[in-house]
Formats: sequence, C-alpha cells, structure tokens
Amino acid sequence: MSTTQSFAGRFVSGLGDLLLRYQSGIRRMQWMMIAAYVALLVVPLALPLPGGSDYIWNNLARFVQFVFWGVWWPFVILGTALVGRFWCGLLCPEGALSEFASERGAGRAIPSWMKWSGWPVVAFISTTIYGQLTSIYQYPKPAALLLGGSTLAAMVVGARYGKAKRVWCRFLCPVSGVFGTVSKVAPLHFRVESDAWKRSSPAEAAGVNCAPLIPIKTMQGSSACHMCGRCSGHRGAIRLAWRKPAADIVFGSGRMAARWDTILIIPILLGLVPAALHWTASGAFQAMRTWLVERCVELGLMWPLSLRLPWWLLTNYPSVNDVMNVVDAVSLLAFVALGAFTSSVLFLLPLVAATTILRRTRKVVHHLAQAMIPLATSSLFCGLLALTTSQLRSDGINLPGVDAARGALVVVAGLWSVGLFFRISSVYCRSINRRIIATAPIAMAVAAFSATWLFMFLGG
Ligand code: SF4
Repeated sequence: MSTTQSFAGRFVSGLGDLLLRYQSGIRRMQWMMIAAYVALLVVPLALPLPGGSDYIWNNLARFVQFVFWGVWWPFVILGTALVGRFWCGLLCPEGALSEFASERGAGRAIPSWMKWSGWPVVAFISTTIYGQLTSIYQYPKPAALLLGGSTLAAMVVGARYGKAKRVWCRFLCPVSGVFGTVSKVAPLHFRVESDAWKRSSPAEAAGVNCAPLIPIKTMQGSSACHMCGRCSGHRGAIRLAWRKPAADIVFGSGRMAARWDTILIIPILLGLVPAALHWTASGAFQAMRTWLVERCVELGLMWPLSLRLPWWLLTNYPSVNDVMNVVDAVSLLAFVALGAFTSSVLFLLPLVAATTILRRTRKVVHHLAQAMIPLATSSLFCGLLALTTSQLRSDGINLPGVDAARGALVVVAGLWSVGLFFRISSVYCRSINRRIIATAPIAMAVAAFSATWLFMFLGG
C-alpha cells in the first residue's frame, strides 16, 4: 500500500516538475487555445441562425454552441473539482492573454479598489443574469459580447497593472471565485513544506513568477493557485502532491473563509444558479409571469408586453420566434431572486443555529458553510450538464441513464457535505452530542435541496 502511495506521490511530483520544464510548450498550447477560442467566438457571428434541420454535426453555429456550453463550461467545472485549477494555469485563453498583455504593459501598482474581495461574486452574479436575459446559451452575439468583452477587459487590466501577472484572474475574473471554491475539493495541490523552505538557501533559488500573485511561501490551500507548475521544486520545498479531498476545507483555507465565500456558496451557487439554469422549465416562473401579465392587462399597461429591446439588452430574435419582453425579464429576475432567498433561508438558518448549538461566535458560520462546497459543486455541474443533455436531445441523441447519474451525484455530494459539516464541527466542539444536534438541521436542508434536484431529474 505504502509503495503504491509513494509511487503515486512520485508520479504527481514528477508531473509538477514536467510542467516547470515545458513552460514554452505550455505557452504554445495556450496560443492554440487562443486561436480556437477566437474562431469559436467570431465565426458563428457570420453565419445564419440555425434552423430546425440544423444539428451539431452539420451546422457550425450549433457545433460552437455545443462546444462552449455543452462541453467547455460543465467539464471545466468537473475538471477543477477533480484535479484543481489546471484549466486556469495551462489552458485558459483569457488568463494567457491577460498575462501576455501584462508582460508588455505599463506595470502599474494594483489599485486598492480592485482588491475588494466581493468583485468575483458580483461579477459572477452579473454575468449569470445578463447571460440569461440575452440567451447567451442559444445565440452567438451575446456569447461574443460577454466572453469577448471579458477577454478584452482582462487584456486591458493586464496591460495596465502588474508585470507579467494575472491581476484580472486574481481579483476580477467572474469565474475565479467559483473555480477557487470548487478547487477546494480537489485531491491535488502544490504543497509548501515550510521546514524544507527554512532549510533551503535563498541564494540558490531562482525567482518564481507566480502570475496570480500568490505569496507562495505562506500559501494556504490551493483555491487561488492556477497549478501552472512554475514553482514546482522551488527551494526544494514545493511540489505537486496528493491530499485528502476537502482536507483544505476542514483544516486549511476553509478556516479563513469570510462573508463573500459564504455568499457565493449559499445564495448564489445553491440558489441563484439553479434558478438561472432551470427557469424555463419552472412552474413557479410561469405562475409569476402569468400574474404579472394579468396585472399589466388590468392596469392597461401594454408596453411591458410589447416593447422590444435590442439583443444586447434582452433576447430579441423574431426570425426564430424568440423575443423576451419586459414582463419576461422582470419574471426572470424575480425568479432568480426567489431562488437566492430560498436557499439563504434553507441553509443559513441551520448554519446560524449550529453556531449557537456549538457555543461559538457567528463568524464560525463561514467555516461551517464551506461544508456545502461538494453539494454546490455537484449542483453546478449537474445544472450545467442540463445544457449538454438538452442540446443533444434536441438533436435526437439521448444519453441513457444520465438523469439518474445526475441525481445520484447530487445525493452522494449531499452526503459528503453533511459528513464534512460534522467533521468541521469537531474543530469547534468536543461533545459528540452537540455536534450531532448541530448537524441534524443542516442534514435536513441538504435532503430538501437534493430532493428538489431528484424531482427535477427523475420526476419533473
Ligand atoms: S503557486 Fe503560483 S507559481 Fe505555483 S503553481 Fe500555483 S500559480 Fe503556479
């Protein structure tokens, strides 16, 4: 057993060193990704919108749509949960372009407003909602605007701030908060061994350019690490290594979690995002919309039902009979707000109650909330997978068992979250009885959440 473990350890450590040695190869790979990314964004703009007889295999616009939203987005989330943020460090075209611009840029100091810890969450909420209002998953123009605009902003930030750094990725990228959160369950990380660091001689060590600006000597956890491999072997103290999945949540960076981490997990990933991904199939959304339509008719207010806004504000494609009016948009906003509110009530009340039962201050809520990361990750992945399956289904391809697998994944992740909560409670309380009593309400919340998913996957 130990031989196997040491072989596995040596294997990943060697993998980290390999990344360090092949940085120029990684750079070439990034340029290929950039070329593919630009082509996927731009080429569909010149094509007509797909019709009823267009499929993934015979229409480029449909193919691009599937690659972006059916493959790229869900499987980058899955990859981040399984192996960490290798996507960010090795393949992400936006990060690579931002760093490239920064290498040649002004190299200014990073302004303090940019370091506000709420930016990634605010940017994620804004892009998620804007994407739904403009139907980003269906049409190339909003995809080009949102993704292209984000990439342009990343390059501008790179060109102005930091030298050969990824200031955008560290402080502003709309998905950096999500990737950082999801990566906490990954079983791989770049480990810093502080004793080896102290023993080593700084004179012998070449400098490391950590593009996402991590103070690598004191690095805790791996949520900000892009797994680029540039620090592998540095001072004989850093190596790519295995760890127990989620160990970082219980004993590492999870202990330093703060308000924005909790906001991202509870109201956003467990509330707003599921609502944003499933509003079209929701009876509650339809009920809200019908109610609003009736109020408008009663009041003689017809413009919210008839006004058409440009495609970059609201979905507007009359040629394929897809137009969103103001009532649709207000209903959508109300529905995602309801999703965020419901998940806040469902999870935050048991979390706050747990701090009382464990006789701890309210600050402990943020560490306890980290236990919900497996559930939030599975919910996000399964929600995004709905884009994959619905696109394939519309092309006549049914993946057998996929709904049952999604349901099972959410249930297993929910059980993991409850177990994780119980483990975190051991950091704050020695009494098993208190820990069990504190865990029971959160287990009920997880069960209610998972049951909703199961109903949607299997019965809805
Ligand atoms: S700590 Fe920095 S240099 Fe090291 S792997 Fe992570 S991102 Fe790369």
